[in-house]
Amino acid sequence: MNHQHDTSQNTSKETLHSVSYDVIIIGAGPGGAFAAYELKEKAPSLRVLILEKGRSIEKRACPKRTNGGKCVGCRPCSITTGFSGAGAFSDGKLSLSPDVGGTLSDILGYDEAAALIRESDDIYLKFGADRKIWGVDKEKEIREIRAKAITANLKLVECPIRHLGTEKGYEIYAALQRHLLDAGVDILFNTAVEDILIETSGAEDGTVREHVTGVAAADGARYYAPRVIAAVGREGADWLNGQCEKFGIESVPGTVDIGVRVEVRDEVMQFLNDNLYEAKLIYHTPTFDDKVRTFCTNPHGEVATEYYDGNLAVVNGHAYAGGEYATHNTNFALLVSKNFTKPFRTPIEYGRKIAELSNMLCGNRIIVQTFGDFRRGRRSTEERMCRNNLIPTLKDAVPGDLSLVFPHRIMVDLEEMIYALDKVTPGIASDETLLYGVEVKFYSNRLVVNREFETSVPGLYAIGDGAGITRGLQQASANGLCAARAILAKKEGASA
Ligand SMILES: Cc1cc2nc3c(=O)[nH]c(=O)nc-3n(C[C@H](O)[C@H](O)[C@H](O)COP(=O)(O)OP(=O)(O)OC[C@H]3O[C@@H](n4cnc5c(N)ncnc54)[C@H](O)[C@@H]3O)c2cc1C
Repeated sequence: MNHQHDTSQNTSKETLHSVSYDVIIIGAGPGGAFAAYELKEKAPSLRVLILEKGRSIEKRACPKRTNGGKCVGCRPCSITTGFSGAGAFSDGKLSLSPDVGGTLSDILGYDEAAALIRESDDIYLKFGADRKIWGVDKEKEIREIRAKAITANLKLVECPIRHLGTEKGYEIYAALQRHLLDAGVDILFNTAVEDILIETSGAEDGTVREHVTGVAAADGARYYAPRVIAAVGREGADWLNGQCEKFGIESVPGTVDIGVRVEVRDEVMQFLNDNLYEAKLIYHTPTFDDKVRTFCTNPHGEVATEYYDGNLAVVNGHAYAGGEYATHNTNFALLVSKNFTKPFRTPIEYGRKIAELSNMLCGNRIIVQTFGDFRRGRRSTEERMCRNNLIPTLKDAVPGDLSLVFPHRIMVDLEEMIYALDKVTPGIASDETLLYGVEVKFYSNRLVVNREFETSVPGLYAIGDGAGITRGLQQASANGLCAARAILAKKEGASA
């Protein structure tokens, strides 16, 4: 039986919303989908409803793919909404370590998070993921790299990767959608949740208690359940924040990761590139004890401009495995993690203001500076950049001075990290190394949850990227499993 409802032409919705459910899930990304999977796997009779503001997987298509890469601003965005959320068109790199892609280990402990990741990985395998694991076969070389990292006080994060690839990933999520529908999960597509329904009731001791009762969709329909999982992803993070403010659900400001994209000749990074799928190194800087990390390494790649919110120029990088676009350069991000405490609550604005400053200085383009000029405190010039082995791949970047953009603290953090990296892969601290600014990664505010991922409102669970708990496919999926199990355990406890 197929329980999929496309509400753009749905006739049976009225009958659906008069039904109450055991569990309602907001969002059909990896977090929501894996939660539904686990609920039905362990308790097939449970009535589970998913409301998803995007389309079913077979109806998702991004116009950018057929019109020469131009975003036409679909609402909702086909890349980030619909069944499997931001996962559908991703590169599908599943990180198999709790150190990468989220903070499950902070909540559950390292071993429990690792075990959950193995279990969610098994589900990807069940639905057809490639069995090959990358990044584990070069033990001798990895030991050598780790030894150097230790001397430089850097942590080498070993992260085995299962690579789905975009096409295969899409097929796997399509199979998961079919499985959920066959298992009897009701899925309403094109249905955004507008409000979480929360009621207050008085207890005998005179205290007032809140609890969740369901959700109200944007079209006014109401769906009831004693347990609601918010799995709304980055796409729904602002909405979820609004709900937190409206209902006093506890949350803390998220992190902002800010820094530069580094570009060097491939020769400088070759040993790391050849032996690790991606070199992930973390440093706590000696001066400020700030966390700085490498992220998203692109061998033979190109530095690129990306427009955040359509107009703010920020840096990113792409990799080309080979072929006509391959370059002689490797690029990667160096990001300083900034966490803020009370009373500041808008870290995204902070990151945006720094990026705006750099855009203002160079006509809405990206600033590039050699490391030699960066550490000497002077602006880079076309002439000085032409003296080098390295040819910049971002052609319209403006030679400039990053010290006019970054706070002193971030400048010091970046410089100290580059010297530390130089001990692992000599050549990084060369005068010719290029630093492009500003690279910034925003993360959702983090909802305060307990070990069951239940928020301060009983019955309301929050998981995945939208809750500020995860940042990647595998941890978001594992988070779904975990929340589902907590709900099942509570139900069992209640009926025992
Ligand atoms: C281009 C791209 C490439 C990526 N590549 C990788 C990668 O290779 N490896 C990796 O590990 N991670 C990758 N990621 C990140 C990864 O996709 C996310 O970490 C993961 O999808 C998060 O899962 P989630 O379930 O928490 O949220 P999402 O996948 O974002 O899903 C949330 C869902 O909730 C829905 N929703 C939101 N608000 C509402 C509402 N009010 N009502 C109803 N529905 C709502 C959205 O439409 C969406 O479908 C990539 C992300 C992007 C954008």
